[in-house]
Amino acid sequence: SARTKTADISREKSAQLFEKAKQYFPGGVNSPVRAFKSVYGTPLFIERGDKAHIWDADENEFIDFCCSWGPLILGHNNDQIREAVTAQLSKGLSFGAPTALENELAELIISNNRFIEKIRFVSSGTEAVMSAIRLARGYTKRDKIVKFEGCYHGHSDSLLVKAGSGLVTFGETSSAGVPKAFADETIVIALNDKEALTAVFDQFKDQIAAVIIEGVPANNGLLLQTKEYIHYLREITTQNGALLIFDEVITGFRLGFEGAAAYYDVQPDIITYGKIIGGGMPVGAYGASKELMSCISPDGSVYQAGTLSGNPVAMAAGIATCKVLTQPDFYKNLNAKTELFVSEIRNYIEEKNYEVKIFTIASIFWFAFTDQEAILKASEIDPNSMELYKLMHRELLNRGIYFGPSGYEVGFISHAHTNEDLITAKQHIFAALDLVF
Ligand code: PLP
Repeated sequence: SARTKTADISREKSAQLFEKAKQYFPGGVNSPVRAFKSVYGTPLFIERGDKAHIWDADENEFIDFCCSWGPLILGHNNDQIREAVTAQLSKGLSFGAPTALENELAELIISNNRFIEKIRFVSSGTEAVMSAIRLARGYTKRDKIVKFEGCYHGHSDSLLVKAGSGLVTFGETSSAGVPKAFADETIVIALNDKEALTAVFDQFKDQIAAVIIEGVPANNGLLLQTKEYIHYLREITTQNGALLIFDEVITGFRLGFEGAAAYYDVQPDIITYGKIIGGGMPVGAYGASKELMSCISPDGSVYQAGTLSGNPVAMAAGIATCKVLTQPDFYKNLNAKTELFVSEIRNYIEEKNYEVKIFTIASIFWFAFTDQEAILKASEIDPNSMELYKLMHRELLNRGIYFGPSGYEVGFISHAHTNEDLITAKQHIFAALDLVF
């Protein structure tokens, strides 16, 4: 029956590889969430991917809804990206000198994006955000940064700070090793709370360099903010001479080619990108007006550099990706496919009266085990509900459906997911939900 657990897949080879990895890497991994600590079993070691499918070391096949945490909007082994990267390989991997490829990617991005005039390429989202923060501080000559509880902006010192339960919490670091003096410059408030925002600007007038928010917060569940709130954020930052930074490492090129800025119809002062911009290769970027970007070295005095910045192989992958993304109806089709998938799951949940919601925007979705109609703040997520995610995750893996190994992570649908993939996945999701409830 649908309520019988599916037998566990073999993880023999993955388990052997994990044992070995533990000798070399802290926790056996090079990024913590990969360790599968909050879901069942040892992490799966992935061998290859094609379109929307991946295969692990034990030859288990999965339909992939993690998509490398977002970059693979075109799926695995995309023809255009593979051909572009392959063509570049024989010409050279890195020169540490300018190449025409950087111009080409910049032109593709800027000519199709009304929200930035100049861009700087880096190699990760963390680097992009770190640099954007320095630019904001350098430009405003102020030190304090306001961020939101539940928003992730990479692992740099200023940003690994989260809120306690109070209105405004100082310097409660979420990582050991962040100096208190750095943490003190980061103010953390709850999302979707106008009063908290107003109070922060009342208290720290003329000290706030920037407010940073994820285009759509998607690292602690999917916390869909209201347009009204985002517009208020724009208004209050402008009034106080503080910059507004949109961290679009996830939402950039995902909500649409112009990301969350276009979705909300808001002009941020600085935008950060990552993930999709490199088509699976390590690329990040930050962009702003010409005036702001003129503060960056060598034009200005805000220093930022990188040996592998604008790496030609990575640029080739980015160019190939953006060429597909700028084709007519790319996002319309991807979003429609997602909307259908999500609405059918939603109908099933409602029919069965299960206490779970599926929230969505564009081609991003998130299962929340809650009876609330909406979740707008990190604190509204019940940590106990993660036990249900753990059950669902195990059953889905056993049925060949790969979701991110944490209930706080969102799922992604790519251009490569076929209708058949989505119909198959939906049936397995129904069965997994039947098992959970
Ligand atoms: N900002 C956001 C919104 C992210 O989701 C991430 C990563 O998930 C980062 C920044 C950091 O990017 P990276 O992991 O490439 O350093």
